[in-house]
Amino acid sequence: MRLIDSLARLWDDVVAASALTGNDDEHDPEGATVAFERAQLRDVLKQARADLEELDRAAQRVAAGEYWVCERCGEPIPAARLTARPTATTCVGCASTNTRR
Ligand SMILES: [Zn+2]
Repeated sequence: MRLIDSLARLWDDVVAASALTGNDDEHDPEGATVAFERAQLRDVLKQARADLEELDRAAQRVAAGEYWVCERCGEPIPAARLTARPTATTCVGCASTNTRR
């Protein structure tokens, strides 16, 4: 939550700064850099919000007593995996078949 707060504040600063300086992405030599930073910041903010949603989901799984159970095969998820990746919803085996593209 704190990360999203600070990123959102940073986002506002970037937007305010580019409005203040009247940066024109096409004609100002700094414009391209500002646009790039803005795009990067937007991605980080989006990722932070996605992470928060995953954490929310993990909290719901804890409340439902499903946190330790793989949602694909129903086998227990090893504690080491949940320590390394607290938002994991599947065991390692299912995760590797899931993410293989
Ligand atoms: Zn599994």
